Amino acid sequence: MSHATILIIEDNPMNMELASDLLLDEGFDVIGAEDAVKGIEMAKADHPDLILMDLQLPGLDGIQATHLLKEEASTRDIPVIALTAHAMSNHSAMAKEAGCIAFISKPIDVMQFPDQISELLEEAQSVAAG
Ligand code: MN
Repeated sequence: MSHATILIIEDNPMNMELASDLLLDEGFDVIGAEDAVKGIEMAKADHPDLILMDLQLPGLDGIQATHLLKEEASTRDIPVIALTAHAMSNHSAMAKEAGCIAFISKPIDVMQFPDQISELLEEAQSVAAG
């Protein structure tokens, strides 16, 4: 699992730094975008192994961005995990419907987050490998 690249799309700098630091410590390569338009561009250019998508983004939101990634041939296969502070809302269902493989509530659990991400990435890669 080492050196898998994870793209974090998150507009809150503190959340970005926290998630990024935890994943870097775990041995992942991390790239980041603070809005969905930049994030989609980076997904097309760099084809990361996994995308962490904040759902509340300025402009194009994370649900819309996930739909766009899933409609685009070059990014369709990249697994997307939704991040949101609104665990009790309908965001979980909307994220699944948009094509997210999983949903993580913020604030993230710093103890569990790296393992959660590693496990979800392994799962997604074994599904992709058939
Ligand atoms: Mn946000």
